[in-house]
Amino acid sequence: MRMIRYAFFWMIAAGLAAVITGLQLKPEPPGNIYYQDQAAVLLYHDIRTEVPPGAAGSSTISTAQLREHLKMLGDRGFRIVTMDEFAGFMLQGKKLPANAVVLTFDDGYESFYREAAPILQEFHATASNFIVGASSDIFHPEAEPHLSWEQMNRLKAQGMGFYSHTYNLHRMLPSGPSGALQPALTARILMTQAVRNESEDQHRLRIYSDIAFMEKRLRQELGSQRRLLAFPYGAYDDAVLEEGGRAGIELFFTIEEGLNTAGTRIVKRINAGEPYMTADALWEHLQSFFAKKQ
Ligand SMILES: [Zn+2]
Repeated sequence: MRMIRYAFFWMIAAGLAAVITGLQLKPEPPGNIYYQDQAAVLLYHDIRTEVPPGAAGSSTISTAQLREHLKMLGDRGFRIVTMDEFAGFMLQGKKLPANAVVLTFDDGYESFYREAAPILQEFHATASNFIVGASSDIFHPEAEPHLSWEQMNRLKAQGMGFYSHTYNLHRMLPSGPSGALQPALTARILMTQAVRNESEDQHRLRIYSDIAFMEKRLRQELGSQRRLLAFPYGAYDDAVLEEGGRAGIELFFTIEEGLNTAGTRIVKRINAGEPYMTADALWEHLQSFFAKKQ
């Protein structure tokens, strides 16, 4: 009886060992590595449940589109990382998983809270929004609703991030002798009473004040966090980088497209937020930035 019991025990043990060995020998699921030690930062703007037909160029996507994008990214083996992980990679050379993707939205629309956040949570993904401080501080009855600080705090507790898109320089202002409109961050604005453009010093003081004030407002409302700035209209020059740096900005987000490698403060972003950008179109677009290894 005892012999039989021992034999039975060893059969079970051998069986278990075989199972464990089998598990260990089982190859890793075939994960495609498209890129490593790099990150793709995707750029979105507005999102609605329905995007009206013919809305091309509106920089608005539908909720169904975002869901398809997130599903495609997961299915294809992309890894969505947080803004803090991305900043750690860019500034401190910390490791990121292969195929790392960062999600960013610009302009701080309330639709980020109502439409985007629930879908992001469904996919356990986090995203950041670059907000215009004045649009959240000052209510404009005609403007599309912007995020309130309360909504931002709620989303921040769920892992979302909110950073600077300037306090009040998301505007076009008259510049040059003809008074042609140019982005407020880079333009030497036309001072109509003096009938000349602002001087270099006046310009630098104006943009430094805006950027520094926005950092103060972000800290007052949201607590301590990274100092990140996305340029309105993607416009920047050396003066903007210097004054931004003086205001403590760590990373500058552009609309130049490409993958990011650590060691620079200038971040490229890939535009994903257009009505025509189906999941297939985004996959095609992403592939254009890395060599196909399939
Ligand atoms: Zn913008």
